[in-house]
Amino acid sequence: MPENIGIGSNTREKCDDELCPYHGHLRVRGKILEGKVVSDKMDRTVVVERDRLFYLRKYERFEKRRSRIPAHNPPCINAKVGDRVKIAECRPLSKTVAFVVVEVME
Ligand SMILES: [Zn+2]
Repeated sequence: MPENIGIGSNTREKCDDELCPYHGHLRVRGKILEGKVVSDKMDRTVVVERDRLFYLRKYERFEKRRSRIPAHNPPCINAKVGDRVKIAECRPLSKTVAFVVVEVME
């Protein structure tokens, strides 16, 4: 039975990943962000890119700023390049990964 983590789940299948918020023992807490997957080359990890607008007062215009966040990608979610995903903060899983993909959005 999938664990209720307080975030909508559209997981298609079950997985045996210990670091899956639905089927493993990973607790999520903190920030929940949305972004686009730009790389799925790593094993069970994706890179999620987020665009935001930064206001420049001097020019009264916005400039685009971008951030890349590595996130764990459990097999049952299996996000691919181009997917819009929701990621949730969790404990640090490696040197750079402290987020996990919780949902692939349409
Ligand atoms: Zn799972």
